Amino acid sequence: MKQITLLGATGSIGLQTIDVIKENRNRFSLFAVAFGRNVEKALPIIQEFQPKYIVVQDPDAKNKILTSISYHPAILVGTEGMKEIASHPDAEIVVNAVLGSVGLEATLEAIRAKKQIAFANKETLVTAGHIVMKEARQNGVELLPVDSEHSAIHQCLRGEKINEVKRIILTASGGSFRDRTREELKNVSLKEALNHPNWSMGAKITIDSATMMNKGLEVIEAHWLFDVPYEQIDVLMHKESVIHSMVEFRDRNVMAQLGTPDMRVPIQYALTYPERLEFSSEKGLNLMEIGKLHFAELSFERFPCLKMAYDAGKTGGSLPAVLNAANEEAVHLFLQNQITFLQIEELIQRAMDEHKVIQEPDLETIQAVDRETREQVKSYVN
Ligand code: NDP
Ligand code: MG
Repeated sequence: MKQITLLGATGSIGLQTIDVIKENRNRFSLFAVAFGRNVEKALPIIQEFQPKYIVVQDPDAKNKILTSISYHPAILVGTEGMKEIASHPDAEIVVNAVLGSVGLEATLEAIRAKKQIAFANKETLVTAGHIVMKEARQNGVELLPVDSEHSAIHQCLRGEKINEVKRIILTASGGSFRDRTREELKNVSLKEALNHPNWSMGAKITIDSATMMNKGLEVIEAHWLFDVPYEQIDVLMHKESVIHSMVEFRDRNVMAQLGTPDMRVPIQYALTYPERLEFSSEKGLNLMEIGKLHFAELSFERFPCLKMAYDAGKTGGSLPAVLNAANEEAVHLFLQNQITFLQIEELIQRAMDEHKVIQEPDLETIQAVDRETREQVKSYVN
């Protein structure tokens, strides 16, 4: 039985992780969960799995949980609580599926405690990739990607040498607005933006997919996870989301990983690596049914967020933290109907333009930049 700590249990990835655990009850047990504010979604999970530790963001949620359940777990609060369950000696696997840079400190604790880490929380790597990967190297810990593209690359690289890689090719579905011109983006609504053609995901990443920032964040994520320079990371529009990503080697051999768009597949891979377990899905990949696969260019003119991410990644230092924090704040404002869709990219670009880059920022500097950027973006709107 592997004991799992699940950070972000009430989210899209969190709930799909619960599905994978349910399908493999003889292998996995839920040791601890952390979530934000959604007590209603958390309660059925807590009742069913009775985790020993529960971490909430809101101290008031504590009583609500205790009065609704029939056993006595330890209930902790906030980042300190997440750090504790991420490094607890009894936890063997840590699934990091929280949203945003709030997952950074718990990631570092899990690495220092040498846990097996199934890693979905890309914002953490974008914000502080140099710190996270240095700790991972020093502690001999591999971050096992949950993001489907990075899971694909991880599989294409099994048994390969990274210095023989010529190019990583990340595929992108194109998001909710892939067939619209920039002119047509002026008046799009929140509801339309939340309607992703292929994947069912949390609200923030669905908006990130529509702006193409998600692919930008994934470029930076790939840079850190696989130690490949930005010049060797390409993106390609592929609207069927069948090829999840590819690796081209220097001898011109190209490896691709294919599958149906179902996040439980890469989640299970990260939980069971290096083994592969049976996956009890209704339906596997049927290429005859799909018939054709399509590919197209993703231009920087059409998708400026992608350019901003490459710029931030290549410049490095504190700029990726600004990119990420500005994006998190701008998407939050959009989700609250306070700004238009195109204002998201304007706010991020402005925050990046006004930032004076700090090289080799330490954790405190990163966290200060993150806070300041969020305030700045709010001030642009007020
Ligand atoms: P969701 O918004 O669906 O879920 C986010 C989770 O994080 C929720 O459990 C939420 O709790 C929790 N959370 C939010 N803020 C805090 C906080 N301050 N402290 C503790 N927990 C918090 O997001 P997704 O599941 O879609 O995404 C999670 C991560 O996985 C992101 O980094 C995303 O980029 C990545 N990812 C997601 C994919 C997907 O298919 N959804 C695909 C690939 C990557 P609550 O709701 O209770 O407030
Ligand atoms: Mg992805």
